[in-house]
Amino acid sequence: MTTSPEEESIELQQPQQPKRRNRIGTKNKELYNWDPIEYEQNESSFATQEYIQDRIRKDECNTNYVLSMPSNHDINLWQYEQIRQFTLELNHFTALFKDFCNQTTCPSMKATDDWLFLCASHKQTQECSAIDYIIHTLDSTSAILNSDKHFPKRIEIPATSIKHFQSICRRLYRIFAHAFYHHRELYNDFESKTNLHKRFCKFCLQSNLLPKSAILVKE
Ligand SMILES: [Zn+2]
Ligand SMILES: [Zn+2]
Repeated sequence: MTTSPEEESIELQQPQQPKRRNRIGTKNKELYNWDPIEYEQNESSFATQEYIQDRIRKDECNTNYVLSMPSNHDINLWQYEQIRQFTLELNHFTALFKDFCNQTTCPSMKATDDWLFLCASHKQTQECSAIDYIIHTLDSTSAILNSDKHFPKRIEIPATSIKHFQSICRRLYRIFAHAFYHHRELYNDFESKTNLHKRFCKFCLQSNLLPKSAILVKE
């Protein structure tokens, strides 16, 4: 009996570290199927981002776990990467607004009726509808965070660029506040699955990026 070449070869299982890479064609539920590794063991220049995202995948609702900074980490870089991640997740959140928030339902950007938020993403601040405010703010935030001028490297944050963190967080926070006061069901549903608002507030208060008085959502 002849054996076909296929039957002659057996793929040997090599013991090796699983690669932190999604192969083309990986099914959705099998994406990112690796365990978190210690921060010190990750030599990638995206180590901090990967550290945060691994923790979110493992235990998203555990805010302390996701916000616990590796020891001796540069604090500015840590804050930068956390803010990048919040911006990303807020993009996912606000994608859910499309059926609920428009020029007719929310012609202006408000949380409670006490404040009207003006959009700072233009040469001069102007009144934008809530959904436009949200999209413009997320876009301009991404533009700042990805700008070569303000943040040329992912491993070191220029001291002069730290000042952007407060204004970014103040504007991003209003998205949660709008959702809470105007689209409560959507907010509750998302928050119950992610704890994103809870994590964002904890991060901003710990990092002194938002004063306590700015927290408009009282749950
Ligand atoms: Zn709205
Ligand atoms: Zn605008």
